[in-house]
Amino acid sequence: MKTVVLKFGGTSVGSVDRIKKVCKIIAFYKKNKNRVVVVSSAMSGVTNELVNKSKLISNNFDRAEYDALVSTGEQASCALIAGRLKHNGFKSRSWTSWQLPILTDGPHSSARISSVGIKELNNYIKLGGIPIITGFQGINNDFRITTIGRSGSDATAIMLAKFIKADECIIYTDVDGVYTTDPRQYKKAKKIKKIFYDEMLEMASLGSKVMQPTSVQDAKLNKIDIKVKSSFVSKSGTLITGSKKTFSNQIITGISSTKNDAKITIVGVKDRPGVAASIFRPLSKNLINVDMVVQNISQNGNETDLTFTIKSEDLKKTERLIKKNKSISYKKLSFDKDLSKVSIIGVGMITTPGITYRMFQALASKKINILVIATSEIKISVLISSKSVKKAIAVLHKEFKLD
Ligand code: ADP
Ligand code: ASP
Ligand code: MG
Repeated sequence: MKTVVLKFGGTSVGSVDRIKKVCKIIAFYKKNKNRVVVVSSAMSGVTNELVNKSKLISNNFDRAEYDALVSTGEQASCALIAGRLKHNGFKSRSWTSWQLPILTDGPHSSARISSVGIKELNNYIKLGGIPIITGFQGINNDFRITTIGRSGSDATAIMLAKFIKADECIIYTDVDGVYTTDPRQYKKAKKIKKIFYDEMLEMASLGSKVMQPTSVQDAKLNKIDIKVKSSFVSKSGTLITGSKKTFSNQIITGISSTKNDAKITIVGVKDRPGVAASIFRPLSKNLINVDMVVQNISQNGNETDLTFTIKSEDLKKTERLIKKNKSISYKKLSFDKDLSKVSIIGVGMITTPGITYRMFQALASKKINILVIATSEIKISVLISSKSVKKAIAVLHKEFKLD
């Protein structure tokens, strides 16, 4: 008998009708003699609504109460799923994070799951029950409710699969797999049959929201294969794995893009040890995520220019922090908004020379200006104007034969 963890995302459980459909998928696995464990997100839109309410109550809403608030959507969807399964004659019940418990470490709203209590779950499954477990939430050492980052139900599913020793973990979503690029943005995107953890991790971190980055990291660490499938249509999905068996020889596996990036350049900062740290210390203290960082080679050995990117929503705060930072001096500050990072990702680039040139040449052929470049072993990212993103994805998709 196989144990399967099935995770359903917000759109998959977005209405009463959708919940009834999802219950048919769950019933299919149960009738095929599987031990079934379900993880659900909140109904789509619910978490966003709760986040907005917290902002209306206070622009400095308490982090612990924030988690207590935004985690409530999952309790409702799980109860609805369990209720429907019972209506259909199955043994089922919902579980919230504290009832299992799902223990987490780390700060509110970006905690990480450290363990999942499975004793009661296993007993229930043995008796033929289908447990429906709230994604996204956990509890910490102080018994406070925590959440594990937006889209965190993916990570809940992976960690449950780990602790319950599942044979399969299937992420049901509103697309029938991981595509070469977001299929809603680019019609010629192609479904990827198999993708390595590292590639998926880069794609997810660089803007492909089909999987939450932390969940892919957890899957890689624990060697859990993930299948991504659609809850809307019955089609083969994508396998995310570390296994090297039967992979295509594509050089580039996928293209990701981000929205709402902003760039800050500090002109004429002192070129001496500790200056970069002095600039970034207050940003880090204020939880501002700095992404790409470029420092120019100093012309005169005394001064240099430092450029970095952040999310546009953090721009005002960052500007304020730099201006009141007494430990640095500079000549000028400049800001740019409405930027996006476009990245090509693929393990094939490790062994193939000339990829950087081909990427830059393709972008140049469409007169797309590159503002910042960042590379790793398996990805090349460029910062460009958001207006050019569609054009960039199209030309790169074609250049690397993904169309
Ligand atoms: P869920 O609510 O099921 O967790 P998400 O909205 O988090 O679903 O993720 C699914 C969405 O991810 C798709 O609707 C799609 O628009 C988007 N997406 C972005 N990049 C990709 C990609 N490379 N492949 C597939 N989907 C992608
Ligand atoms: N409901 C949460 C969110 O919208 C978690 C999830 O959907 O995975 O971020
Ligand atoms: Mg998601």
